[in-house]
Amino acid sequence: MQVTRSTFDDVMVPNYNPAKMVPVRGEGSRVWDQEGNEYIDFAGGIAVNALGHCHPELVKVLQEQGNKLWHLSNVFTNEPALRLAKKLCDSTFADKVYFANSGAEVNEAALKLARRFALEHYGESKDQIISFEKGFHGRTFFTVTVGGQPAYSEGFGPKPGGIDHCEFNNLEKLAQMMSERTCAVMMEPLQGEGGIIVPDPEFVKGVRELCNKHNALLILDEVQSGVGRTGYLFAYMGVDVTPDILTAAKSLGGGFPIGAMLTTDIVAKSLKPGTHGSTYGGNPLACAVAERVLDIINQPEILTGVLKKEALYREALQKINDKYHVFSEIRGKGMLLGCALNEKYAGRARDFMVAANEQNLMCLIAGMNVIRFAPSLVIPDEDIIEGLARFEKAVASVVAA
Ligand SMILES: *Cc1c(COP(=O)(O)O)cnc(C)c1O
Repeated sequence: MQVTRSTFDDVMVPNYNPAKMVPVRGEGSRVWDQEGNEYIDFAGGIAVNALGHCHPELVKVLQEQGNKLWHLSNVFTNEPALRLAKKLCDSTFADKVYFANSGAEVNEAALKLARRFALEHYGESKDQIISFEKGFHGRTFFTVTVGGQPAYSEGFGPKPGGIDHCEFNNLEKLAQMMSERTCAVMMEPLQGEGGIIVPDPEFVKGVRELCNKHNALLILDEVQSGVGRTGYLFAYMGVDVTPDILTAAKSLGGGFPIGAMLTTDIVAKSLKPGTHGSTYGGNPLACAVAERVLDIINQPEILTGVLKKEALYREALQKINDKYHVFSEIRGKGMLLGCALNEKYAGRARDFMVAANEQNLMCLIAGMNVIRFAPSLVIPDEDIIEGLARFEKAVASVVAA
């Protein structure tokens, strides 16, 4: 059957507006479309393909597990899930792990757990969840309401209650909002969708202290920042602030859908049998792949490599900006970088992304004003250099238009 981009408009719900070309194959940080055109991938499936496309080790483990056991449900446990959970606990603050299939699902679990914990330990009135403006936590109704973009949560009828939003990076405001009623504070240690916004480390430390003061749980959403993305296994390790609950997804599966919620023994106790669950969560196929992803990424050479690659990006992006004067700031950490457009190009991030596509480069945006790069953590330096040469041509074409 012949399918093309126009088939999308015929048969798909119109909630997305995908690029004109249809990718059919990928290898490392290169992708090919239906016409055989080759692209360099700086998008990484939105910070998911942490080891590029079709990494031989991941293909191997997927094939091995595919010949062994695909799915059981949580009526039974399985070896890949147990090994992955053990490795996540051994390499982080966590004592306990819960698996689901996506970022939104593990955030949903984290929020439900925080509410249960507060109810059991402090009573019904401790139900306030505080999160931050421009934050993003997924698209279920609870997570999208906790997210800080009202445009995403409005138009679906009555929203879940007990949720308040604070300005990001404003500790004074947060201190005013918090009280004994606060059940949890949920935040991204580096805001991704909101525009690649790195908070002040003192702010993150301050949030932790306020949570301690008010017996509130700190939930760090590391769905985008986690699993090596910032050059640390998790971003919290770079700011030296330990959460009570952490969520991971995206890079964790390297392209296979999985999410993990990590927490401490004491907090985990509130998810008693029957309180929450998932049919697919902890699926052996997903866990076998994620275990290999974690084994590969959680090595000092890979993590320091991320920081070296960041330096390569920053240097070249700075040069592009010296020549074309389009960015007000180049920001982010590791392989999660944002180029914020200056006033002259305000609101035109999409034009740059489309221009990049025309130069055979895949990249992302984060809001209307930021061009975002979230490539593979092991993208070869040659691909970075070639990709940025293509990006320069894209910038030149937007500037000339
Ligand atoms: C992508 C993202 C999510 C949602 O993950 P899904 O897998 O799309 O449900 C949640 N939080 C953050 C920080 C994200 O970047």
